[in-house]
Amino acid sequence: MGKPTGFKEFKRKEDGYISVKKRISNYKEFTIKLDDKDLKNQGSRCMDCGIPFCHSSCPLGNLIPDFNHMVHQEEWQKASWILHSTNNFPEFTGRLCPAPCEKSCVLGIIEEPVSIENIEKNIVEKSFKNGWIKPKIPNKRTNYKIAIVGSGPAGLAAAQQLNSVGHNVIVFEKEDKIGGLLRYGIPNFKLEKKIIDRRVNILKKEGIKFITNANVGVNISVSDLENFDSILLCGGASEKRDLNIPGANSNGVIQAMDLLTRQTKSIYDKSIKTPELKNKNVIVIGGGDTGSDCVGTANRNGAKSVINFEIMPKPPIKRSIKTPWPYWPLQLKNSTSHKEGCDRNWLINTKEFLFNKDNNLTGLKTVNVKWETKKNNSPKLIEIEGSEKIWKCDIALLALGFTGAEATLATKLGVKINTRNNYQTTNYQTNISKIFSAGDMRRGQSLIVWAISEGREAAREIDLFLTGKTSLATKGEGQLPKI
Ligand SMILES: Cc1cc2nc3c(=O)[nH]c(=O)nc-3n(C[C@H](O)[C@H](O)[C@H](O)COP(=O)(O)OP(=O)(O)OC[C@H]3O[C@@H](n4cnc5c(N)ncnc54)[C@H](O)[C@@H]3O)c2cc1C
Repeated sequence: MGKPTGFKEFKRKEDGYISVKKRISNYKEFTIKLDDKDLKNQGSRCMDCGIPFCHSSCPLGNLIPDFNHMVHQEEWQKASWILHSTNNFPEFTGRLCPAPCEKSCVLGIIEEPVSIENIEKNIVEKSFKNGWIKPKIPNKRTNYKIAIVGSGPAGLAAAQQLNSVGHNVIVFEKEDKIGGLLRYGIPNFKLEKKIIDRRVNILKKEGIKFITNANVGVNISVSDLENFDSILLCGGASEKRDLNIPGANSNGVIQAMDLLTRQTKSIYDKSIKTPELKNKNVIVIGGGDTGSDCVGTANRNGAKSVINFEIMPKPPIKRSIKTPWPYWPLQLKNSTSHKEGCDRNWLINTKEFLFNKDNNLTGLKTVNVKWETKKNNSPKLIEIEGSEKIWKCDIALLALGFTGAEATLATKLGVKINTRNNYQTTNYQTNISKIFSAGDMRRGQSLIVWAISEGREAAREIDLFLTGKTSLATKGEGQLPKI
Protein backbone atom coordinates (compact mmCIF):
# COMPACT_ATOMS: atom_id res chain seq x y z
CA MET A 1 0.00 0.00 0.00
CA GLY A 2 1.67 3.18 -1.24
CA LYS A 3 -0.14 5.79 0.80
CA PRO A 4 -2.54 4.92 3.62
CA THR A 5 -4.70 7.99 3.00
CA GLY A 6 -4.60 7.88 -0.84
CA PHE A 7 -8.19 6.71 -1.23
CA LYS A 8 -9.38 9.63 0.92
CA GLU A 9 -7.32 12.25 -0.90
CA PHE A 10 -7.80 11.38 -4.55
CA LYS A 11 -10.91 10.83 -6.63
CA ARG A 12 -10.88 8.22 -9.37
CA LYS A 13 -9.39 9.46 -12.65
CA GLU A 14 -8.86 7.66 -15.96
CA ASP A 15 -7.48 8.44 -19.42
CA GLY A 16 -9.70 11.00 -21.15
CA TYR A 17 -11.41 10.78 -24.53
CA ILE A 18 -11.15 12.82 -27.71
CA SER A 19 -14.49 14.55 -28.50
CA VAL A 20 -17.18 12.45 -30.16
CA LYS A 21 -17.16 14.67 -33.26
CA LYS A 22 -13.43 14.17 -33.80
CA ARG A 23 -13.24 10.49 -32.93
CA ILE A 24 -16.07 9.32 -35.17
CA SER A 25 -14.30 10.91 -38.14
CA ASN A 26 -11.77 8.06 -38.17
CA TYR A 27 -11.03 4.53 -36.93
CA LYS A 28 -8.22 5.32 -34.50
CA GLU A 29 -8.16 4.76 -30.73
CA PHE A 30 -9.30 7.92 -28.99
CA THR A 31 -8.00 8.01 -25.42
CA ILE A 32 -5.92 10.84 -23.93
CA LYS A 33 -3.33 9.52 -21.48
CA LEU A 34 -3.30 10.65 -17.84
CA ASP A 35 -0.04 12.19 -16.74
CA ASP A 36 2.32 10.21 -14.51
CA LYS A 37 1.56 12.27 -11.40
CA ASP A 38 -2.13 11.45 -11.71
CA LEU A 39 -1.30 7.79 -12.27
CA LYS A 40 0.90 7.76 -9.16
CA ASN A 41 -2.03 9.16 -7.17
CA GLN A 42 -4.42 6.65 -8.70
CA GLY A 43 -2.07 3.84 -7.62
CA SER A 44 -2.22 5.20 -4.08
CA ARG A 45 -6.03 4.81 -3.97
CA CYS A 46 -5.47 1.05 -3.60
CA MET A 47 -6.13 0.37 0.08
CA ASP A 48 -4.49 -2.09 2.41
CA CYS A 49 -7.76 -4.03 2.35
CA GLY A 50 -6.53 -7.27 3.86
CA ILE A 51 -8.28 -9.57 1.39
CA PRO A 52 -7.90 -8.13 -2.10
CA PHE A 53 -11.06 -9.38 -3.80
CA CYS A 54 -9.84 -7.78 -7.07
CA HIS A 55 -7.14 -10.40 -7.22
CA SER A 56 -9.45 -13.39 -6.91
CA SER A 57 -12.13 -12.06 -9.27
CA CYS A 58 -9.55 -11.59 -12.04
CA PRO A 59 -9.51 -14.80 -14.14
CA LEU A 60 -5.72 -14.38 -14.33
CA GLY A 61 -5.33 -13.73 -10.61
CA ASN A 62 -3.44 -10.53 -11.42
CA LEU A 63 -1.40 -9.28 -8.44
CA ILE A 64 -3.24 -5.97 -8.47
CA PRO A 65 -2.38 -4.37 -5.10
CA ASP A 66 1.30 -5.13 -5.80
CA PHE A 67 1.45 -3.35 -9.14
CA ASN A 68 -0.68 -0.47 -7.87
CA HIS A 69 1.82 -0.02 -5.05
CA MET A 70 4.75 0.01 -7.49
CA VAL A 71 3.03 2.66 -9.62
CA HIS A 72 2.57 4.80 -6.54
CA GLN A 73 6.30 4.33 -5.78
CA GLU A 74 7.05 5.31 -9.42
CA GLU A 75 8.73 1.93 -9.85
CA TRP A 76 7.17 1.39 -13.26
CA GLN A 77 9.49 -1.36 -14.45
CA LYS A 78 8.82 -3.40 -11.31
CA ALA A 79 5.10 -2.81 -11.83
CA SER A 80 5.55 -4.23 -15.34
CA TRP A 81 7.33 -7.36 -14.04
CA ILE A 82 4.52 -7.97 -11.57
CA LEU A 83 1.85 -7.42 -14.21
CA HIS A 84 3.51 -9.68 -16.77
CA SER A 85 4.06 -12.41 -14.20
CA THR A 86 0.37 -13.36 -14.46
CA ASN A 87 -0.77 -11.74 -17.73
CA ASN A 88 0.97 -12.29 -21.07
CA PHE A 89 -0.83 -9.44 -22.84
CA PRO A 90 -1.86 -6.57 -20.55
CA GLU A 91 -2.00 -4.25 -23.58
CA PHE A 92 -5.15 -6.15 -24.69
CA THR A 93 -6.83 -6.48 -21.29
CA GLY A 94 -5.78 -2.94 -20.26
CA ARG A 95 -7.80 -1.64 -23.22
CA LEU A 96 -10.65 -4.12 -23.54
CA CYS A 97 -11.35 -5.99 -20.34
CA PRO A 98 -14.71 -5.28 -18.65
CA ALA A 99 -12.57 -5.40 -15.49
CA PRO A 100 -14.26 -7.79 -13.06
CA CYS A 101 -11.44 -6.75 -10.69
CA GLU A 102 -12.88 -3.24 -10.42
CA LYS A 103 -16.38 -4.58 -9.72
CA SER A 104 -15.01 -6.38 -6.66
CA CYS A 105 -12.57 -3.67 -5.50
CA VAL A 106 -13.14 -3.10 -1.76
CA LEU A 107 -13.03 0.67 -2.23
CA GLY A 108 -15.95 0.21 -4.64
CA ILE A 109 -18.28 -0.53 -1.69
CA ILE A 110 -18.28 3.12 -0.64
CA GLU A 111 -16.54 5.02 -3.47
CA GLU A 112 -15.51 4.76 -7.10
CA PRO A 113 -13.21 1.69 -7.34
CA VAL A 114 -9.49 1.95 -8.08
CA SER A 115 -8.94 2.52 -11.83
CA ILE A 116 -7.11 -0.82 -12.13
CA GLU A 117 -7.61 -1.39 -15.86
CA ASN A 118 -6.34 2.06 -16.75
CA ILE A 119 -3.28 1.66 -14.53
CA GLU A 120 -2.61 -1.70 -16.23
CA LYS A 121 -2.74 -0.12 -19.69
CA ASN A 122 -0.39 2.67 -18.66
CA ILE A 123 2.12 0.25 -17.12
CA VAL A 124 2.37 -1.84 -20.29
CA GLU A 125 2.46 1.15 -22.63
CA LYS A 126 5.28 2.74 -20.62
CA SER A 127 7.12 -0.58 -20.69
CA PHE A 128 6.95 -0.83 -24.47
CA LYS A 129 7.96 2.81 -24.81
CA ASN A 130 11.02 2.31 -22.61
CA GLY A 131 12.03 -0.93 -24.31
CA TRP A 132 11.52 -3.00 -21.16
CA ILE A 133 9.51 -5.65 -22.97
CA LYS A 134 12.11 -7.80 -24.66
CA PRO A 135 11.90 -11.26 -26.22
CA LYS A 136 12.69 -13.95 -23.66
CA ILE A 137 14.44 -16.68 -25.60
CA PRO A 138 14.54 -20.03 -23.74
CA ASN A 139 18.04 -21.20 -22.75
CA LYS A 140 17.38 -24.77 -23.83
CA ARG A 141 15.05 -26.41 -26.33
CA THR A 142 13.25 -29.70 -25.67
CA ASN A 143 12.47 -32.19 -28.43
CA TYR A 144 8.71 -31.74 -28.05
CA LYS A 145 6.70 -30.27 -30.95
CA ILE A 146 3.34 -28.64 -30.24
CA ALA A 147 0.77 -27.47 -32.79
CA ILE A 148 -1.61 -24.71 -31.77
CA VAL A 149 -4.68 -24.19 -33.94
CA GLY A 150 -5.92 -20.59 -33.74
CA SER A 151 -4.02 -17.40 -32.95
CA GLY A 152 -6.50 -15.55 -30.73
CA PRO A 153 -5.50 -14.55 -27.19
CA ALA A 154 -5.89 -18.17 -25.95
CA GLY A 155 -3.59 -19.61 -28.64
CA LEU A 156 -1.04 -16.81 -28.26
CA ALA A 157 -0.87 -17.07 -24.45
CA ALA A 158 -0.46 -20.84 -24.62
CA ALA A 159 2.22 -20.48 -27.32
CA GLN A 160 4.25 -18.06 -25.20
CA GLN A 161 3.99 -20.22 -22.09
CA LEU A 162 4.96 -23.44 -23.87
CA ASN A 163 7.79 -21.76 -25.76
CA SER A 164 9.12 -20.27 -22.51
CA VAL A 165 9.92 -23.77 -21.21
CA GLY A 166 11.71 -24.68 -24.44
CA HIS A 167 9.07 -26.59 -26.41
CA ASN A 168 8.88 -26.06 -30.17
CA VAL A 169 5.61 -24.32 -30.96
CA ILE A 170 3.91 -23.76 -34.32
CA VAL A 171 0.69 -21.72 -34.48
CA PHE A 172 -1.67 -22.38 -37.41
CA GLU A 173 -4.07 -19.57 -38.28
CA LYS A 174 -6.68 -19.73 -41.03
CA GLU A 175 -6.86 -15.96 -41.50
CA ASP A 176 -4.18 -13.93 -43.30
CA LYS A 177 -3.08 -12.27 -40.05
CA ILE A 178 -2.49 -13.31 -36.44
CA GLY A 179 -4.77 -12.26 -33.55
CA GLY A 180 -8.17 -14.01 -33.74
CA LEU A 181 -11.05 -11.74 -32.77
CA LEU A 182 -8.56 -9.12 -31.60
CA ARG A 183 -7.60 -8.73 -35.26
CA TYR A 184 -10.85 -9.13 -37.19
CA GLY A 185 -13.67 -8.87 -34.64
CA ILE A 186 -12.88 -6.01 -32.30
CA PRO A 187 -12.92 -2.71 -34.19
CA ASN A 188 -9.77 -0.67 -34.70
CA PHE A 189 -11.12 2.19 -32.61
CA LYS A 190 -11.03 -0.15 -29.57
CA LEU A 191 -7.73 -1.81 -30.46
CA GLU A 192 -5.42 -0.53 -33.19
CA LYS A 193 -3.91 -3.51 -34.97
CA LYS A 194 -0.32 -2.28 -34.59
CA ILE A 195 -0.74 -3.19 -30.89
CA ILE A 196 -1.14 -6.86 -31.91
CA ASP A 197 1.77 -6.70 -34.39
CA ARG A 198 4.03 -5.23 -31.68
CA ARG A 199 3.41 -8.26 -29.44
CA VAL A 200 3.49 -10.84 -32.24
CA ASN A 201 6.95 -9.56 -33.24
CA ILE A 202 8.18 -10.28 -29.70
CA LEU A 203 6.66 -13.79 -29.83
CA LYS A 204 8.35 -14.47 -33.19
CA LYS A 205 11.70 -13.37 -31.77
CA GLU A 206 11.15 -15.71 -28.84
CA GLY A 207 11.06 -18.55 -31.37
CA ILE A 208 7.36 -19.24 -31.93
CA LYS A 209 6.53 -20.06 -35.57
CA PHE A 210 3.34 -18.77 -37.15
CA ILE A 211 1.71 -20.11 -40.31
CA THR A 212 -1.15 -17.96 -41.64
CA ASN A 213 -3.75 -18.88 -44.29
CA ALA A 214 -3.54 -22.35 -42.74
CA ASN A 215 -7.05 -23.66 -42.15
CA VAL A 216 -6.56 -26.91 -40.28
CA GLY A 217 -8.99 -29.52 -41.58
CA VAL A 218 -9.38 -27.63 -44.87
CA ASN A 219 -6.10 -26.67 -46.61
CA ILE A 220 -3.96 -28.24 -43.86
CA SER A 221 -4.95 -31.84 -43.41
CA VAL A 222 -5.42 -33.08 -39.83
CA SER A 223 -3.00 -35.90 -40.71
CA ASP A 224 -0.29 -33.22 -41.07
CA LEU A 225 -0.59 -32.71 -37.29
CA GLU A 226 0.04 -36.39 -36.47
CA ASN A 227 3.77 -35.86 -35.94
CA PHE A 228 3.20 -33.28 -33.20
CA ASP A 229 3.57 -34.49 -29.61
CA SER A 230 0.57 -32.44 -28.58
CA ILE A 231 -2.10 -30.31 -30.27
CA LEU A 232 -3.95 -27.42 -28.66
CA LEU A 233 -7.22 -26.33 -30.27
CA CYS A 234 -7.99 -22.62 -29.74
CA GLY A 235 -10.28 -22.00 -32.73
CA GLY A 236 -12.79 -19.73 -30.95
CA ALA A 237 -16.60 -19.95 -30.95
CA SER A 238 -17.57 -18.49 -34.28
CA GLU A 239 -21.00 -20.01 -35.06
CA LYS A 240 -23.28 -16.97 -35.37
CA ARG A 241 -26.89 -16.97 -34.19
CA ASP A 242 -29.37 -16.27 -37.02
CA LEU A 243 -32.76 -14.61 -37.00
CA ASN A 244 -34.98 -16.88 -39.08
CA ILE A 245 -37.99 -14.65 -39.61
CA PRO A 246 -39.74 -13.57 -42.84
CA GLY A 247 -37.54 -11.35 -45.01
CA ALA A 248 -34.26 -12.57 -43.49
CA ASN A 249 -32.78 -12.98 -46.99
CA SER A 250 -33.42 -9.42 -48.13
CA ASN A 251 -30.53 -7.16 -49.12
CA GLY A 252 -29.46 -5.12 -46.12
CA VAL A 253 -29.80 -7.86 -43.47
CA ILE A 254 -26.18 -8.39 -42.46
CA GLN A 255 -24.44 -10.46 -39.80
CA ALA A 256 -22.56 -8.12 -37.41
CA MET A 257 -19.36 -10.15 -37.70
CA ASP A 258 -19.39 -9.85 -41.51
CA LEU A 259 -19.53 -6.07 -41.17
CA LEU A 260 -16.92 -5.84 -38.41
CA THR A 261 -14.45 -8.15 -40.16
CA ARG A 262 -14.74 -6.42 -43.50
CA GLN A 263 -14.56 -3.00 -41.88
CA THR A 264 -11.23 -3.76 -40.19
CA LYS A 265 -9.83 -5.47 -43.30
CA SER A 266 -10.79 -2.45 -45.41
CA ILE A 267 -8.70 -0.11 -43.22
CA TYR A 268 -5.59 -2.06 -44.19
CA ASP A 269 -6.61 -3.13 -47.69
CA LYS A 270 -8.44 -0.44 -49.63
CA SER A 271 -9.62 -2.98 -52.22
CA ILE A 272 -11.95 -4.55 -49.63
CA LYS A 273 -15.38 -2.96 -49.64
CA THR A 274 -17.68 -2.72 -46.62
CA PRO A 275 -21.49 -2.59 -46.78
CA GLU A 276 -22.54 1.01 -47.51
CA LEU A 277 -23.85 2.61 -44.29
CA LYS A 278 -23.51 6.28 -45.25
CA ASN A 279 -26.84 8.11 -44.94
CA LYS A 280 -28.58 4.83 -44.13
CA ASN A 281 -31.06 4.12 -41.35
CA VAL A 282 -29.26 1.40 -39.42
CA ILE A 283 -30.83 -0.87 -36.80
CA VAL A 284 -28.55 -3.05 -34.69
CA ILE A 285 -30.39 -6.08 -33.30
CA GLY A 286 -28.67 -7.23 -30.11
CA GLY A 287 -27.62 -5.11 -27.16
CA GLY A 288 -24.34 -6.80 -26.18
CA ASP A 289 -20.70 -5.94 -26.88
CA THR A 290 -20.88 -6.92 -30.55
CA GLY A 291 -23.97 -4.73 -30.93
CA SER A 292 -22.12 -1.86 -29.29
CA ASP A 293 -19.19 -2.30 -31.72
CA CYS A 294 -21.68 -2.14 -34.61
CA VAL A 295 -23.08 1.13 -33.23
CA GLY A 296 -19.56 2.64 -33.17
CA THR A 297 -18.91 1.35 -36.69
CA ALA A 298 -22.21 2.68 -38.08
CA ASN A 299 -21.56 6.15 -36.62
CA ARG A 300 -18.04 6.20 -38.07
CA ASN A 301 -19.43 5.25 -41.48
CA GLY A 302 -21.86 8.18 -41.53
CA ALA A 303 -25.17 6.39 -40.85
CA LYS A 304 -28.20 8.71 -40.88
CA SER A 305 -29.71 7.09 -37.78
CA VAL A 306 -28.55 4.31 -35.45
CA ILE A 307 -31.09 2.38 -33.39
CA ASN A 308 -30.32 -0.55 -31.09
CA PHE A 309 -32.78 -3.29 -30.02
CA GLU A 310 -32.43 -5.59 -27.04
CA ILE A 311 -34.92 -8.32 -26.14
CA MET A 312 -34.01 -8.31 -22.43
CA PRO A 313 -35.19 -5.64 -19.93
CA LYS A 314 -33.12 -2.50 -19.34
CA PRO A 315 -30.70 -3.32 -16.51
CA PRO A 316 -30.68 -1.06 -13.44
CA ILE A 317 -28.39 2.01 -13.54
CA LYS A 318 -26.86 0.97 -10.21
CA ARG A 319 -25.79 -2.54 -9.16
CA SER A 320 -28.88 -4.76 -8.73
CA ILE A 321 -29.45 -6.23 -5.25
CA LYS A 322 -29.45 -9.62 -6.94
CA THR A 323 -25.74 -9.17 -7.66
CA PRO A 324 -24.28 -7.51 -4.56
CA TRP A 325 -20.60 -6.62 -4.18
CA PRO A 326 -18.21 -8.40 -4.87
CA TYR A 327 -20.14 -10.23 -7.62
CA TRP A 328 -20.15 -9.26 -11.27
CA PRO A 329 -23.02 -6.75 -11.31
CA LEU A 330 -26.22 -6.79 -13.30
CA GLN A 331 -26.05 -3.13 -14.30
CA LEU A 332 -26.59 -0.92 -17.35
CA LYS A 333 -23.49 -0.62 -19.54
CA ASN A 334 -23.09 2.58 -21.46
CA SER A 335 -20.12 2.04 -23.76
CA THR A 336 -18.14 4.77 -25.50
CA SER A 337 -19.90 3.69 -28.72
CA HIS A 338 -23.34 4.12 -27.17
CA LYS A 339 -22.30 7.61 -26.08
CA GLU A 340 -21.43 8.48 -29.68
CA GLY A 341 -25.12 8.47 -30.58
CA CYS A 342 -27.71 5.72 -30.64
CA ASP A 343 -31.35 5.25 -29.70
CA ARG A 344 -31.45 2.22 -27.39
CA ASN A 345 -34.65 0.19 -26.99
CA TRP A 346 -35.21 -2.71 -24.59
CA LEU A 347 -37.87 -5.45 -24.41
CA ILE A 348 -38.38 -5.48 -28.14
CA ASN A 349 -38.56 -8.45 -30.50
CA THR A 350 -38.15 -8.31 -34.28
CA LYS A 351 -40.90 -10.24 -36.06
CA GLU A 352 -40.33 -9.50 -39.73
CA PHE A 353 -37.95 -7.80 -42.19
CA LEU A 354 -39.89 -5.72 -44.73
CA PHE A 355 -38.51 -5.32 -48.26
CA ASN A 356 -39.43 -3.82 -51.63
CA LYS A 357 -39.82 -5.44 -55.06
CA ASP A 358 -36.02 -5.35 -55.56
CA ASN A 359 -35.59 -7.34 -52.32
CA ASN A 360 -34.02 -4.34 -50.57
CA LEU A 361 -34.74 -3.94 -46.87
CA THR A 362 -37.12 -1.06 -46.12
CA GLY A 363 -38.19 -1.66 -42.52
CA LEU A 364 -38.63 -3.90 -39.52
CA LYS A 365 -41.79 -5.04 -37.81
CA THR A 366 -41.40 -5.41 -34.03
CA VAL A 367 -43.46 -6.20 -30.99
CA ASN A 368 -42.88 -5.21 -27.37
CA VAL A 369 -42.35 -8.07 -24.96
CA LYS A 370 -42.23 -8.84 -21.26
CA TRP A 371 -40.62 -11.71 -19.37
CA GLU A 372 -42.53 -13.87 -16.91
CA THR A 373 -41.08 -16.51 -14.65
CA LYS A 374 -42.71 -19.91 -15.00
CA LYS A 375 -43.31 -22.25 -12.07
CA ASN A 376 -40.05 -24.12 -12.75
CA ASN A 377 -38.23 -20.73 -12.62
CA SER A 378 -37.47 -20.67 -16.34
CA PRO A 379 -38.19 -17.30 -18.00
CA LYS A 380 -40.99 -17.03 -20.57
CA LEU A 381 -41.22 -14.39 -23.30
CA ILE A 382 -44.70 -12.84 -23.66
CA GLU A 383 -45.60 -10.58 -26.59
CA ILE A 384 -47.68 -7.54 -25.68
CA GLU A 385 -50.81 -7.44 -27.77
CA GLY A 386 -51.29 -4.34 -29.91
CA SER A 387 -47.67 -3.19 -29.51
CA GLU A 388 -46.61 -3.96 -33.10
CA LYS A 389 -44.58 -1.20 -34.70
CA ILE A 390 -42.92 -0.59 -38.08
CA TRP A 391 -39.43 0.96 -38.09
CA LYS A 392 -37.82 2.49 -41.16
CA CYS A 393 -34.59 0.63 -41.82
CA ASP A 394 -32.13 0.24 -44.72
CA ILE A 395 -29.53 -1.89 -42.91
CA ALA A 396 -30.20 -4.39 -40.10
CA LEU A 397 -27.14 -5.71 -38.31
CA LEU A 398 -27.56 -9.03 -36.52
CA ALA A 399 -25.55 -9.05 -33.30
CA LEU A 400 -27.33 -11.94 -31.64
CA GLY A 401 -24.41 -13.78 -30.12
CA PHE A 402 -22.81 -17.11 -30.97
CA THR A 403 -24.10 -20.66 -30.69
CA GLY A 404 -20.74 -22.38 -30.17
CA ALA A 405 -17.60 -23.57 -31.92
CA GLU A 406 -17.35 -24.87 -35.49
CA ALA A 407 -17.76 -28.64 -35.29
CA THR A 408 -15.89 -29.65 -38.49
CA LEU A 409 -12.44 -29.76 -36.92
CA ALA A 410 -13.73 -31.80 -33.96
CA THR A 411 -15.36 -34.29 -36.30
CA LYS A 412 -12.18 -34.70 -38.36
CA LEU A 413 -10.05 -35.19 -35.26
CA GLY A 414 -12.58 -37.36 -33.40
CA VAL A 415 -12.82 -34.84 -30.54
CA LYS A 416 -16.09 -34.78 -28.54
CA ILE A 417 -18.32 -31.70 -28.36
CA ASN A 418 -20.64 -30.99 -25.43
CA THR A 419 -24.34 -30.05 -25.43
CA ARG A 420 -23.43 -26.34 -25.63
CA ASN A 421 -21.46 -26.94 -28.87
CA ASN A 422 -18.11 -26.38 -27.18
CA TYR A 423 -15.12 -28.70 -27.32
CA GLN A 424 -15.36 -31.02 -24.35
CA THR A 425 -12.39 -31.32 -22.01
CA THR A 426 -11.30 -32.39 -18.55
CA ASN A 427 -8.48 -30.16 -17.33
CA TYR A 428 -8.25 -28.80 -20.90
CA GLN A 429 -7.62 -32.33 -22.27
CA THR A 430 -10.09 -33.70 -24.81
CA ASN A 431 -11.12 -37.35 -25.16
CA ILE A 432 -7.96 -37.84 -27.28
CA SER A 433 -5.09 -37.72 -24.82
CA LYS A 434 -2.63 -35.60 -26.79
CA ILE A 435 -5.25 -33.08 -27.95
CA PHE A 436 -6.20 -30.18 -25.67
CA SER A 437 -8.53 -27.21 -26.11
CA ALA A 438 -8.78 -23.72 -24.56
CA GLY A 439 -10.43 -20.33 -24.92
CA ASP A 440 -13.83 -19.70 -26.51
CA MET A 441 -13.68 -23.02 -28.38
CA ARG A 442 -13.80 -24.75 -24.97
CA ARG A 443 -15.83 -22.35 -22.82
CA GLY A 444 -18.05 -20.62 -25.42
CA GLN A 445 -17.92 -16.96 -26.46
CA SER A 446 -16.36 -15.16 -23.50
CA LEU A 447 -13.69 -12.56 -22.74
CA ILE A 448 -10.07 -11.89 -23.65
CA VAL A 449 -9.00 -12.20 -20.03
CA TRP A 450 -10.55 -15.68 -19.88
CA ALA A 451 -8.91 -16.67 -23.17
CA ILE A 452 -5.47 -15.67 -21.85
CA SER A 453 -6.14 -17.45 -18.58
CA GLU A 454 -7.28 -20.64 -20.35
CA GLY A 455 -4.28 -20.52 -22.72
CA ARG A 456 -1.94 -20.34 -19.73
CA GLU A 457 -3.68 -23.15 -17.84
CA ALA A 458 -3.85 -25.40 -20.92
CA ALA A 459 -0.12 -24.82 -21.55
CA ARG A 460 0.58 -25.98 -18.02
CA GLU A 461 -1.48 -29.14 -18.54
CA ILE A 462 0.31 -29.87 -21.83
CA ASP A 463 3.73 -29.38 -20.21
CA LEU A 464 2.69 -31.80 -17.44
CA PHE A 465 1.35 -34.28 -20.00
CA LEU A 466 4.58 -34.21 -22.01
CA THR A 467 7.20 -34.08 -19.29
CA GLY A 468 5.44 -35.30 -16.13
CA LYS A 469 6.24 -32.05 -14.30
CA THR A 470 5.91 -28.33 -14.93
CA SER A 471 7.39 -25.05 -13.81
CA LEU A 472 4.67 -23.02 -15.51
CA ALA A 473 2.57 -20.89 -13.18
CA THR A 474 -1.09 -21.49 -12.46
CA LYS A 475 -3.68 -18.73 -11.77
CA GLY A 476 -2.27 -15.84 -9.75
CA GLU A 477 1.02 -17.61 -9.22
CA GLY A 478 3.31 -14.95 -10.63
CA GLN A 479 6.90 -15.92 -11.36
CA LEU A 480 8.59 -12.74 -10.27
CA PRO A 481 12.19 -11.88 -10.90
CA LYS A 482 13.94 -10.82 -7.67
CA ILE A 483 12.92 -7.22 -6.95
C1 LIG B 1 -17.29 -8.14 -31.87
C2 LIG B 1 -16.65 -8.65 -30.63
C3 LIG B 1 -16.18 -7.76 -29.69
C4 LIG B 1 -15.58 -8.23 -28.53
N1 LIG B 1 -15.12 -7.32 -27.64
C5 LIG B 1 -14.53 -7.75 -26.49
C6 LIG B 1 -14.03 -6.83 -25.54
O1 LIG B 1 -14.14 -5.61 -25.71
N2 LIG B 1 -13.42 -7.32 -24.42
C7 LIG B 1 -13.29 -8.67 -24.19
O2 LIG B 1 -12.71 -9.07 -23.18
N3 LIG B 1 -13.75 -9.57 -25.10
C8 LIG B 1 -14.36 -9.14 -26.23
N4 LIG B 1 -14.84 -10.06 -27.13
C9 LIG B 1 -14.63 -11.51 -26.86
C10 LIG B 1 -13.16 -11.92 -27.18
O3 LIG B 1 -12.75 -11.34 -28.39
C11 LIG B 1 -13.03 -13.43 -27.23
O4 LIG B 1 -13.53 -13.98 -26.03
C12 LIG B 1 -11.57 -13.88 -27.41
O5 LIG B 1 -11.01 -13.31 -28.58
C13 LIG B 1 -11.49 -15.40 -27.49
O6 LIG B 1 -10.17 -15.77 -27.76
P1 LIG B 1 -9.81 -17.19 -28.41
O7 LIG B 1 -8.34 -17.20 -28.57
O8 LIG B 1 -10.45 -18.26 -27.63
O9 LIG B 1 -10.54 -17.20 -29.83
P2 LIG B 1 -10.55 -16.20 -31.06
O10 LIG B 1 -10.11 -14.85 -30.69
O11 LIG B 1 -11.91 -16.33 -31.65
O12 LIG B 1 -9.47 -16.80 -32.05
C14 LIG B 1 -9.68 -18.03 -32.70
C15 LIG B 1 -8.79 -18.09 -33.91
O13 LIG B 1 -8.77 -19.42 -34.41
C16 LIG B 1 -8.76 -19.38 -35.82
N5 LIG B 1 -9.22 -20.68 -36.32
C17 LIG B 1 -10.44 -21.24 -36.12
N6 LIG B 1 -10.48 -22.46 -36.70
C18 LIG B 1 -9.28 -22.66 -37.28
C19 LIG B 1 -8.72 -23.72 -38.05
N7 LIG B 1 -9.42 -24.83 -38.33
N8 LIG B 1 -7.44 -23.61 -38.50
C20 LIG B 1 -6.71 -22.50 -38.20
N9 LIG B 1 -7.20 -21.45 -37.49
C21 LIG B 1 -8.46 -21.54 -37.03
C22 LIG B 1 -9.68 -18.23 -36.14
O14 LIG B 1 -9.48 -17.73 -37.45
C23 LIG B 1 -9.28 -17.22 -35.06
O15 LIG B 1 -8.22 -16.40 -35.52
C24 LIG B 1 -15.46 -9.62 -28.30
C25 LIG B 1 -15.96 -10.53 -29.23
C26 LIG B 1 -16.56 -10.06 -30.38
C27 LIG B 1 -17.13 -11.05 -31.36
